[in-house]
Amino acid sequence: MRMTRPRKVLESDGRVTLLHPVTVQDREFELFLRVPGEPVYEGVEPFIALTLLPAMRLGTDIVVETPVSPKFLKGIEKIQEQLHAWFPQELKKVRVEAEPMRSPPAPIETGKSGCLFSGGVDSFYSILTHREELSGLIFGHGLDIQLDRFDLRERVQQQLRHAAEDIRLPLVEVETNARHLFDATVDWGKHYHGSVLAGVALVLSRRFASMIIPSGRTPDMLFPWGSHPEVDPLWSTEWFAIIHDSIETSRSEKIMFIAGAEVAQKHLRVCYHNVSGKLNCGRCEKCLRTMVVLRAAGVLDRCTNFETELDLKRVASLPLLSRNIEVWYEDILKTVRKNDNDLELKQALEDCLNRKFDRGVLRLLRRIWWRLKRYKYRNRNLFYPISLAEIEARSKQAGVITSSAS
Ligand SMILES: [Zn+2]
Repeated sequence: MRMTRPRKVLESDGRVTLLHPVTVQDREFELFLRVPGEPVYEGVEPFIALTLLPAMRLGTDIVVETPVSPKFLKGIEKIQEQLHAWFPQELKKVRVEAEPMRSPPAPIETGKSGCLFSGGVDSFYSILTHREELSGLIFGHGLDIQLDRFDLRERVQQQLRHAAEDIRLPLVEVETNARHLFDATVDWGKHYHGSVLAGVALVLSRRFASMIIPSGRTPDMLFPWGSHPEVDPLWSTEWFAIIHDSIETSRSEKIMFIAGAEVAQKHLRVCYHNVSGKLNCGRCEKCLRTMVVLRAAGVLDRCTNFETELDLKRVASLPLLSRNIEVWYEDILKTVRKNDNDLELKQALEDCLNRKFDRGVLRLLRRIWWRLKRYKYRNRNLFYPISLAEIEARSKQAGVITSSAS
């Protein structure tokens, strides 16, 4: 694959689109990053971040025809080593041929950071604990919601804009079709999402001195994963640091912390199932897990973004499909036991955790039922190769004008 500086297009509404040609499943596409106006970093590094993992999956070498940050080049060598060591069958080491930049740009003078913001627990925690260091919040369109799901995008966009107003920071919205183009090539969760977050961050590296990626992990859950404290900082350049934040805090500690903030109560969005345009379905495992802690914190009735009431019978019968999820529930139960003021909730969690010792046909059927539900949800949420022209044609058809505020 040959890579060079992306093509830059100034849109009539002031947005800036950077495009780079790629071949996906024998079709030519333009991979794009669109940002709400200047300043924008116009170098090739963001596009290398977006294409390195698909190249590793396919075993395709990369030749870069424009100088690249020396620190970034060293970083991607280490990233490849780490990811290949974690997933030797799935990700090959590829050759990245590039000339190191002689004089990389200086960091921007304000020294302020951006923080990636999806409306979830981890991002609210990072924002509230780093508020004074921040000068903007960044939301990536096309990462967890398809670009052509205009209804849901609009709803999430409004929520996040209101949240950013309440926090008194600008919301910088970046769009990319990276996941659309490569979702069938490389696993989004396991391999790819961290590098797309890095691509989104790097294109803003003339606007912020650093970018905070809120961690979704704790030290006892550090299995190989697309965004990881040992990998994310390696995407940094001489002028821009990428920081994997708050690994030391457990998810229930984070929820207990943000539960006291009105902005989180009003705008929290944890569900990725995106069912019928709902922000939080209130029924999936992730929604239930969050609602349980919000109830333990005594604020669930103030969190208006959950579409249904907490069903404790559903909590009690949740199958814990992995050790990670089990750890989360053990952690939540500890908090509930410590508070010792909600016996119904404590009982539901104990029943849920005791079920891990279930044996026999009932357990098997319960697991199949939950897996089928997850499969059903996943099928509603498909990403497929799409060009900028197709997205724009569909947005006109749907009568929507997608716009990014700065
Ligand atoms: Zn949900």
